[in-house]
Amino acid sequence: MGLDLDEARYIEDKWQKRWAEAKIFEAEPDSSKEKYFLNMPYPYVNGHLHLGHSFTYIRGEILGRYKRMKGFNVLFPFAFHCTGTPIVAAANRVRDNEPTQIESLKSMGLPEEEIPKFADPVHWTEFFPKEMKADLLKLGLAIDWRRSFKTTSLNPYYDKFIRWQFRKLKEKEYVVLGEHPVVWCPKDNSPVSDHARIKGEGETPQEFTLLKFKFGDEYILAATLRPETVYGQTNMWVDPDIQYVKVSIGDEIWIVSKECADKLKEQKEGLEVVGEIWGGQMMGKTCVAPGINREILILPSDFCDPGKGTGLVTSVPSDAPDDWMGLHDLQKDEGLCKRWGLDFEKIRKIKPIPIINSPDRGDLPAVQICEEMKIESQNDREKLEEAKKIIYKAGFYTGILNDNCDEYAGMKVEEAKDLVRAKLIDQGEAEVMYELSGEVVCRCLTPSIVKVVSDQWFIAYGNPQWKEETRKGLEKMRLYPETVRKQFDYVIGWLNDWACTREFGLGTQLPWAEKWVIESLSDSTIYMAYYILSKYLEHDNIVSSEKIDDAFFDYVFLGKGNCAALSNEMGISEDVL
Ligand SMILES: [Zn+2]
Repeated sequence: MGLDLDEARYIEDKWQKRWAEAKIFEAEPDSSKEKYFLNMPYPYVNGHLHLGHSFTYIRGEILGRYKRMKGFNVLFPFAFHCTGTPIVAAANRVRDNEPTQIESLKSMGLPEEEIPKFADPVHWTEFFPKEMKADLLKLGLAIDWRRSFKTTSLNPYYDKFIRWQFRKLKEKEYVVLGEHPVVWCPKDNSPVSDHARIKGEGETPQEFTLLKFKFGDEYILAATLRPETVYGQTNMWVDPDIQYVKVSIGDEIWIVSKECADKLKEQKEGLEVVGEIWGGQMMGKTCVAPGINREILILPSDFCDPGKGTGLVTSVPSDAPDDWMGLHDLQKDEGLCKRWGLDFEKIRKIKPIPIINSPDRGDLPAVQICEEMKIESQNDREKLEEAKKIIYKAGFYTGILNDNCDEYAGMKVEEAKDLVRAKLIDQGEAEVMYELSGEVVCRCLTPSIVKVVSDQWFIAYGNPQWKEETRKGLEKMRLYPETVRKQFDYVIGWLNDWACTREFGLGTQLPWAEKWVIESLSDSTIYMAYYILSKYLEHDNIVSSEKIDDAFFDYVFLGKGNCAALSNEMGISEDVL
């Protein structure tokens, strides 16, 4: 028998009212029933809930109702995540009358006259949670709404909870101060976390070795991801038509592209542009290659990208397809050599130097792959990018360094790489530079950069002992389906120290350095524990937020301290405590 929409709504309405009246979703302690706690990630409140949310929450809903029918005392709570910069950024865009933002709010069905209110970030945190709750009630989710709360200092109770959590982390040295490269928005003056990006999720700062080539009294710099290939350097590539800059740092002068200088300013203290030099002015001269202390020629190429690395490229034709093709092109082009006053015969004598041997690709992998892929010139960009990837993998995992590689002879590339880099840096022949692994654009529409910050606070997810404990914890967990365990393992291995504070945005201030606000992925790691308290604190109002201190959380969560004394101090009955 069919049901029309009105009938369906009538029935829906009737039962939702009955559930509310009977308070059937309000879980109270009951020793006669087994407990079942259900948590779904709280939503970020910068808009209405959408179909994706209901798809997610329905899974919890079904599980919760199933467990309830099986006789469990089910607690299914729900809260609202307000932390971070996106709401503030969006509010600012409303304030500035930014058309896309205004349109976006209109498309949510908000009347025109309501929109100016959204210039205040606080309005977002009041408006959307209300809307969300109404939608979820209509959907009929079996939620205990007395547990509901919102994050940030706008909720003084949650604020106290997060302050306690962070003081605990600091005590255990899991929150540390450090110098780290972070993905950074130069406009917001703030790190750009994954979900504050409109482009570039998952991209990170990637570490390049910045090789230093003595060039008279100055240094030419070239960035590489393969420091172990310094042994195969034959020449330096420069684009004759690019104007490079000279920067002073300490008592040295470096030559890099202008774009590179802009990046390095955010990464090296005291770096200053002091002059300019055309690529053509360096042509045909020599510089001294680091690691091998050998004079090499500076030669012209088309593939020096000023936006990548330093815009100058050290040439390792044995292992880099670009370099091999660059050499190949030049060795055929007597005219070009003449134009730059290069000795053609000398150029023709440059040969790739075998430095790494791998079972699949031999000891001149770049030459081999260019032949295999029929690459014709250095302008065959697409094929060359592909070739680079193939060679890089083969070299990294299966390559062994040859006898001409000093103390690294016989070592795997995988092992030698970091050692070679460390030695070069140690000897003053190299530096470190960071580049983004891919393009990142902040929600404020500004392209992100890498910045090395020195007063940033980090959660030490990279701490090996903490990783170990986490792995042990994971082993004890049952996961459905079991195949997702690999994903957890992967992330535990990959996750490094995490910049946990921002200079602006909604949130809890870092208790010991209040100019910092704790960011949104850092104040949402143990919030599910707070559901136990929110009913008493925010619904029953058993105590004012001012009276709450760390002793309270220590007692409730860790069983530390004296109940009677605490009860006396806080005016909460021992019972409830
Ligand atoms: Zn930004």
